[in-house]
Amino acid sequence: MRFDILTLFPHILDSYVNESILKRAQAKKLIIVKTHNIRDYATDKHHTTDDSPYGGGAGMVMKVEPIYRALHAIKALSHPTSPRLRGAGKSKANCRTILLAANGKFFTQRDVPRLGKYKRLVFICGRYEGVDERVKKFVDETISIGPYVLTGGELPAAVIIDAIARHIPGVLGNKESPKDESFANLKSYKLQATSSLEYPQYTRPAVFVAAGKRYAVPKVLLSGDHNKIKDWRAQQRKVTRH
Ligand code: SAM
Repeated sequence: MRFDILTLFPHILDSYVNESILKRAQAKKLIIVKTHNIRDYATDKHHTTDDSPYGGGAGMVMKVEPIYRALHAIKALSHPTSPRLRGAGKSKANCRTILLAANGKFFTQRDVPRLGKYKRLVFICGRYEGVDERVKKFVDETISIGPYVLTGGELPAAVIIDAIARHIPGVLGNKESPKDESFANLKSYKLQATSSLEYPQYTRPAVFVAAGKRYAVPKVLLSGDHNKIKDWRAQQRKVTRH
């Protein structure tokens, strides 16, 4: 199985994925873990990957364009040492793209066999205030690893990769078989959490065109009317109960 991690900090997980069980799994070619710098896919002179949010507010939002380009380039890659994975990124059945976000659907042990069926998982790690909401249009799902806010999506990507890799035959020794472990037969999961989630964030460009389609920022955010923006954001804050 191949894991691709799109990040602004491509070395941040080096020590974790290159030690112990994940290191051995890579040496045995049971898994491939590759990181890709989103900045390499920014085309302007300064390789800009973030900008201030439309409608105002604190922090920076990661731009849709470099992420879109990175996603497409990486899905098209195959790995020379793994012919089975050739073209895996091109087929929906073989490849799953995942945005990591605090407001995504919670990851549980039930997702391990479900995601473990794919030949390739591509993770998009946000930073700062998160990614432009339009990124969600280009991924298969949005996952959160729990009801708390982390600094970036890299640790969540590592958590998911670790949980899935240990179920790949040969990754663990026989004695360490994960069959009888906690949550092996998890049927349902209830977390007593009720909380508002942050409103969607957007940054430039106001209209992003991809594959002939237009993806526009909600007009209200360009209006300069702070009361309207405040109301819109309040409406967009979803209350979640997982
Ligand atoms: N402003 C966002 C909010 O309030 O929901 C939080 C952004 S967070 C500081 C930056 C990035 O960390 C996110 O884009 C996401 O990729 C990652 N992240 C933070 N918490 C996460 C979680 N619980 N699960 C998955 N990813 C998370």
